[in-house]
Amino acid sequence: MTTYTKYLTFNTRQEHEYINITLEVAEAIEESGVKDGLVYVGSMHITSSVYINDAEDGLLQDIETWLEKLAPARPDYKHHRTGETNGDAHLKNLIMGHSVTCPITRGRLDFGPWQQIYYAEFDGQRPKRLIIKVMGE
Ligand code: ZN
Repeated sequence: MTTYTKYLTFNTRQEHEYINITLEVAEAIEESGVKDGLVYVGSMHITSSVYINDAEDGLLQDIETWLEKLAPARPDYKHHRTGETNGDAHLKNLIMGHSVTCPITRGRLDFGPWQQIYYAEFDGQRPKRLIIKVMGE
């Protein structure tokens, strides 16, 4: 079995950003030489997410609106007693999840037609890391 690990760093201009990383993950799979296996893609932070869904601008805006309803940015989170101000970003991470595991077949992401991998930042404007781990043969 082969394993291959790659790290990506994001330093988003906005506090919230949704970045399509499907090509970067496909690149890591190619670099690994793995033809059949799995790739794990995970945020290394607790205030950003990795998820799979459609690369459609309207949907990205809908997700942002939906998350703001479920976990609005507001000053009165108990977490802010620590001096931090990112209580909402922690909750958004829990809603959207921190990682995905994807199938690799014949050296490619074995996805349905509309599946894309996104890195979702909820507390950006500073360097944040993501891990890609490819396993297989
Ligand atoms: Zn925090």
